[in-house]
Amino acid sequence: MELSNRQEQIIQIVKENGPITGESIAESLSLTRATLRPDLAILTMAGYLDARPRVGYFFTGKTGSELLTEKLKKFKVYEYQALPVVVQEDVSVYDAICTMFLEDVGTLFVINEESLLVGVLSRKDLLRASIGNQDLTSVPVHIIMTRMPNVSICTKDDLLLDAAQKLIEKQIDGLPVVKPVENGMEVIGRLTKTSVTKALVELATDQHL
Ligand code: ADP
Repeated sequence: MELSNRQEQIIQIVKENGPITGESIAESLSLTRATLRPDLAILTMAGYLDARPRVGYFFTGKTGSELLTEKLKKFKVYEYQALPVVVQEDVSVYDAICTMFLEDVGTLFVINEESLLVGVLSRKDLLRASIGNQDLTSVPVHIIMTRMPNVSICTKDDLLLDAAQKLIEKQIDGLPVVKPVENGMEVIGRLTKTSVTKALVELATDQHL
């Protein structure tokens, strides 16, 4: 985040004199304590300063990039996951292609009658099935999908960074966010490269204080 001149000044004062009370910081800047309150709140929330009751403010010693990394490492999957789009395992490749277009997603999750995850369909899976001369309305998706147990998954409480690492390692576009149930896994979300990109933009534009 971009610090204002006054915020830079405050950090300098606290660095040199900390622990120091808000009152004394205000005095050295010839401002009132009330005027400084928003700046002190921002600097504390962003992690540059820490405050202890009856002691005052002190400098945490963390640089801007250390603070950014710290924040990024705390992001959780549930903060960025999107709604999942699922199809039943016996729907045709033709219908799955229609669903992909209608729902405007790149990855479909395949479920069985009990609504448990059984597979994943990517754009390329559907393209590959389409270049043969088969009748796409008569090929069920379970024939062409990537199936369990080969599906990479994540849970809502996983770290976003761990999920992002799986996307890179497996060279895939998305992970189902799953909830373990008695005989398998229910799909409750979708974590994609777009989700990770959103987190990055939020971080860079200070929306995730
Ligand atoms: P595309 O096929 O459009 O490049 P991906 O890179 O996501 O899309 O998929 C590449 C392959 O990996 C496909 O065969 C797909 O079925 C498979 N795949 C996609 N997502 C997963 C996942 N979460 N777990 C395991 N395999 C996956």
